[in-house]
Amino acid sequence: MNTRTTKDWQAADASHHLHPFTDFKSLAGKGSRIITRADNIYLWDSEGHKLLDAMSGLWCVNVGYGRRELIDAATKQLETLPFYNSFFQTTTPPAIELAELLAQVTPPQFKHVFFSGSGSEGNDTIVRMVRRYWDLKGQPERSVIISRHNAYHGSTMAGASLGGMSGMHEQGGLPIPGIVHIEQPFWYESDRRLSRDEFGLKAARALEQKILEIGADKVAAFIGEPVQGAGGVIVPPATYWPEIQRICDRHGILLVSDEVICGFGRTGQWFGCETFGYRPDLMTFAKGVTSGYIPLGGVMVGERVAKVLIEEGGEFAHGYTYSGHPVACAVGIANIKLIQREGLVERVRTEIGPYLAETFAALAEHPLVGEVQTCGMMGALQLVKDKASGEMFDGKLEVGMVCRAHCFGNGLIMRAVGDRMIVAPPLVMTKAQIDEMAVLIRKCLDLTQQELK
Ligand code: PLP
Repeated sequence: MNTRTTKDWQAADASHHLHPFTDFKSLAGKGSRIITRADNIYLWDSEGHKLLDAMSGLWCVNVGYGRRELIDAATKQLETLPFYNSFFQTTTPPAIELAELLAQVTPPQFKHVFFSGSGSEGNDTIVRMVRRYWDLKGQPERSVIISRHNAYHGSTMAGASLGGMSGMHEQGGLPIPGIVHIEQPFWYESDRRLSRDEFGLKAARALEQKILEIGADKVAAFIGEPVQGAGGVIVPPATYWPEIQRICDRHGILLVSDEVICGFGRTGQWFGCETFGYRPDLMTFAKGVTSGYIPLGGVMVGERVAKVLIEEGGEFAHGYTYSGHPVACAVGIANIKLIQREGLVERVRTEIGPYLAETFAALAEHPLVGEVQTCGMMGALQLVKDKASGEMFDGKLEVGMVCRAHCFGNGLIMRAVGDRMIVAPPLVMTKAQIDEMAVLIRKCLDLTQQELK
């Protein structure tokens, strides 16, 4: 038995462990929260506190914690064949079976997958693949990829460059050449004189302006998340994606959907592009493919690109040791079958997603909340200084962080993106658990409001 106390863990952690997206120095003073176990939608820390995990870990534990099917699939595969690679014309049964299953659950243009170990690696593959595609088409000058400000596409050099987070670009000389950004479809942050739908068209047409500015013959692809997750659960107006599709079609540009968060049921369809009505040529996935139980990611390659890569490409000089890792793929298969068996996608669309929307609509009445947005099992509450005018708080007050601290202190894991409080709970959450979450959210909003007085 491990007899370390929380303080022991925290001291060792601060001495040796550099955490992602963390001010390293801050760990020495405050100490990390040590999560020790989980079940269903709940976590427990080393002090025995129970927490409702409204973020599904990091947007990934779609089927909830402790699912026996996934644990058994991993164990069995570890015993049978813990590792073999997919290089040099070899592969393993789980990699083949998962590829087959993915071809069934993704939109019809997808029949092929390229596996990676994570979403960031998947997006690196996207950059390599779209440029290779245009090389093979005899248009190597078509190399620019257009993305959006405040997008998140991962943390590798290519992922962070595709992403539009200024804080990330400031470190390490990013973005890498050939990646440019346009505005995001964030209506509430715009001047709001346009209706949502008008604004959606305007935001999408920024893509056409950028294409014309660069020259369509130089643009390889456009990439976007169906709903910007890490950017703050920004649900685009209904007009946005169809217009993006029209523009990509018109200029022959590849359309890439980053489904790392939105994939595997989160929006109420298997993939976010189905919810928003567009037809990507490539799709990045990760997280929900294994419900986060084990790392796995990849790229679904639509027939337009696959045909060229397969028939004309020769060797694609790209791949990862863990591409198609058999244990990860075995967990992916078990996870997808579980989502199918329990009808979780349908449940998000017709039952629990609408209930989350109703619950958030009621929270919109809180004096601190300027707007709410939900999409399937994702939601955002925009905290504002003045509810009537929608005036935002001074960023220096860090109101979102104040609220997040109250959430932690009251047994709720919610994330703050600026002053936007967001959730992405497991898809298995019950209505009673949504009610339980709403009580906690309301309490934390009240505490935040009191603290601001
Ligand atoms: N793309 C999106 C939309 C994401 O939200 C993330 C991670 O949050 C990534 C890519 C990167 O995935 P990973 O952290 O697995 O590298």
